[in-house]
Amino acid sequence: MHIKFLGADREVTGSRHLIHVNGKNILLDCGMFQGKRSQEYARNIGLPFDASEIDAVVLSHAHIDHSGNLPVLVKKGFKGPIYCTFATRDLCTFMLQDSAYIQEREIEYINEKLHRKGQKDNLDAIYTLEDAEHALLSFQSINYNKEFNVTDGVKAIFQDAGHILGSANVTLNIDDKRAGKHITLAFTGDLGRKDLPVLRDPEQIEHADYLISECTYGDRVHEKVKDVEKIVADIVNRTANRGGKIIIPAFALGRTQEVVYAVHRLNNAKRIPEIPIFVDSPLACNVTEVFRNHPECFDKETYDQFIVNHKDPFGFQRLKYVHSVEESKKLNDFKGPCIIIAASGMCEHGRILHHLKNNIETPRNTILIVGFQGQETLGRKIIEKRKVVNIFGKPYRLKAEVGVVNAFSAHGDRNDLLDFAKGIDGLKRVFLVHGEQEQAESFKGLLGKHGIDDVTIPAFGDEIKL
Ligand SMILES: [Zn+2]
Repeated sequence: MHIKFLGADREVTGSRHLIHVNGKNILLDCGMFQGKRSQEYARNIGLPFDASEIDAVVLSHAHIDHSGNLPVLVKKGFKGPIYCTFATRDLCTFMLQDSAYIQEREIEYINEKLHRKGQKDNLDAIYTLEDAEHALLSFQSINYNKEFNVTDGVKAIFQDAGHILGSANVTLNIDDKRAGKHITLAFTGDLGRKDLPVLRDPEQIEHADYLISECTYGDRVHEKVKDVEKIVADIVNRTANRGGKIIIPAFALGRTQEVVYAVHRLNNAKRIPEIPIFVDSPLACNVTEVFRNHPECFDKETYDQFIVNHKDPFGFQRLKYVHSVEESKKLNDFKGPCIIIAASGMCEHGRILHHLKNNIETPRNTILIVGFQGQETLGRKIIEKRKVVNIFGKPYRLKAEVGVVNAFSAHGDRNDLLDFAKGIDGLKRVFLVHGEQEQAESFKGLLGKHGIDDVTIPAFGDEIKL
């Protein structure tokens, strides 16, 4: 058997690994490359293999950088099943439709630009709503901790990765019939953290010969989860006291619900002033509904609150979910302090751009960054506190305060990743993916210090025989 690394290699998006065994091909994830807008089209429109030759997909979770290119796969001839958990399937319904909507708008914009330059032919969208709906028909849901057949000689099992609702790590039990040997291959998907709000803690994979591990934060130790609320309370109080707005770019899936949950608790404890809170994202509204439908994925505290005490942790009096464009536009005229949470998380698309445009030049406001920001994205430039940033192609002075809370991260830090690898019995070799080169090298060094020496950081296209 061999693995071909075809995405999230020395970078953090576009997760995609191809396993070839017993004459069959299995894809682990089929994610979209996300990052600088100008590169996204070229990197997502094609596939580096023949889609009709893929027999099955095993999907770790619903984030677009893991699931977002499934519609392209199906459009180009994939006919097999896409295995994932129940919550992942429900989340993908909204995530893939939303992604298709973005692709359709994006191509209109690109074609307009090309027409102005004199080009007559139109480019096609990476995929359309119809393609996304078509892909969703191939999904097959599987419970956690229940072994299932993937292809000839290959069985898989999902365990809770504790990263977002429905997220799973994957263990493949493989009978390599040609080589006459049994191989256990584990994949972290995205590894979560202990004590994250709402979710259960990650489950440990007990045994594997090989591990494909993410290393997003392979060079960093996070602030403690329990410190998050204090940091957020300080920022909200400081900004509200000077009459400013707090603008929070957040992924619609996961981060938005975690921020809402934290603000809810601060609100109940009267640790922040009584100011309105807006979640300005139709996708976040839909995703929050999926959260409400999957209490089986909650940790005990959230389950008790939601099911036993009938309290909704994702809704409270001063929080408003904003659906329509008109309501969203009205927020521009809102006077006085408030919190606005909007997508996209890396500030490259979506309603957050309007809020940044309207608020970034006012010193009393705060832009609160709560998630990972890819290289060259607007979010990364804001963290770097560049004096001037471009929004919708126009320059704006960055005068607002910039706050950064890394403790919201739904990814384990280097110690969590190390503990996870050390907890696997029989591990022979590790492949590091889903981390920039610097993070991967740093984590490789840490693994080496703990006796895990055979560690590879594959480049895109590398094929490795096991
Ligand atoms: Zn993820």
